[in-house]
Amino acid sequence: MNSRAFAIEVVQQLQQAGYQALWAGGCVRDQLLGLTPKDYDVATEATPDQVRNVFGHKRTLPIGASFGVITVLGPRTADPIEVATFRRDGAYSDGRRPDAVEFTDAREDAMRRDFTINGMFYDPAADEVIDFVGGQKDLAAKRIRAIGVADQRIEEDKLRMLRGVRFAAKHQFEIESGTLQAIQQRSAEISVVSNERIGAEMQRMLADPNRATAVKLLRQAKLLAAVVPDGQLLFASEDQWQQTLGQLQALQPNDFCAAATILLRPVLDSVGADAIMKCWKLSNDQRKTIAFASKQQSVLTDSPNEPWSQVQPLLLSPYIESTIAVMEACGDEDSVKFLRERLSWPEEKLNPEPLLTGQDLIQAGVSPGPEFKAMLTQCRAKQLDGELTTKEQALKLALNNRS
Ligand code: ATP
Ligand code: MG
Repeated sequence: MNSRAFAIEVVQQLQQAGYQALWAGGCVRDQLLGLTPKDYDVATEATPDQVRNVFGHKRTLPIGASFGVITVLGPRTADPIEVATFRRDGAYSDGRRPDAVEFTDAREDAMRRDFTINGMFYDPAADEVIDFVGGQKDLAAKRIRAIGVADQRIEEDKLRMLRGVRFAAKHQFEIESGTLQAIQQRSAEISVVSNERIGAEMQRMLADPNRATAVKLLRQAKLLAAVVPDGQLLFASEDQWQQTLGQLQALQPNDFCAAATILLRPVLDSVGADAIMKCWKLSNDQRKTIAFASKQQSVLTDSPNEPWSQVQPLLLSPYIESTIAVMEACGDEDSVKFLRERLSWPEEKLNPEPLLTGQDLIQAGVSPGPEFKAMLTQCRAKQLDGELTTKEQALKLALNNRS
């Protein structure tokens, strides 16, 4: 049984127990768009206790029970499903989450959701869409519209500003003018959202094929300068901004680090990758990839004409793929072709055994120290550049150069 079949079964079991139960939110939107939903959420009138009684305590986890969510475990082949009791949100005092929730009916549950296209239900048993918010009309018109009064909905939860832009970019929809205005007016309030959540949204937007649209919309919504340290530098020069958009568009793999390297170039030069990492709570690996790609791109751009001994160590880096993706998006065709050809070399040719090792130097009577390392480095470079081909030559060079 796959995730979809299990999501149908969960609804049917609740319905058979006498409770209204429906698919809700993103999975309804994706299905109407002809996309495969990433996950299925079920909304029901049954309370968390009633949901647990229907599926049994062994098959349910009450992790989110305090806000009405019970996780129902399925067979190994299907993802667990979150079953949420229809709810109305209480007051929002922190600009991010309701202070309390109250259980209610499907209509009110739709009203608390963020955008009309995310506010629909679907009954898989009856094959029926239940739409209290005009989601189908906005889906057909390719429009992101806040449910209810846009300014209030943004004021309640500022994360919705980034979600709105993400959905608009991903589906190539427009943001309805009242919703866009509300976002623009409140864009500075994005600062109440945690760095983790901002980073997670940025990662999803930049890893999406429509990343160029996403950053264009972020700028239009006045959010870009609010989520990037020194962000106004990104569009200080209109020419550079247009070039950035073109490169983001041209980027082939859905590689967040490569996209971030392209987008953040003007900022990386001023504040550095560490500031971005902190601001978006990136992993150490992501920080290193972005720092490597932005630094080494300029070295590698002329790689066919550089000594091989300079280029080869960079090709062994774990961050090289993102770097090549950036170069490709920037139109560095000759270098990319050269680097790809070299990367396809067999291991023993790309990274041959060293002619001279530390062991060889010790046997020749050299004692380990700074000089030792310099000898090995020098021999390695000359080996890679084809100036040394035997251990004897290498040893001779190393010993001759001793000071
Ligand atoms: P995706 O999973 O592709 O990002 P989604 O719409 O499923 O899209 P989720 O974050 O999984 O998004 O949330 C599921 C549903 O919960 C949404 O469709 C929406 O109805 C509601 N929702 C999520 N976050 C918010 C929010 N910040 N404010 C209001 N409603 C929300
Ligand atoms: Mg979802």
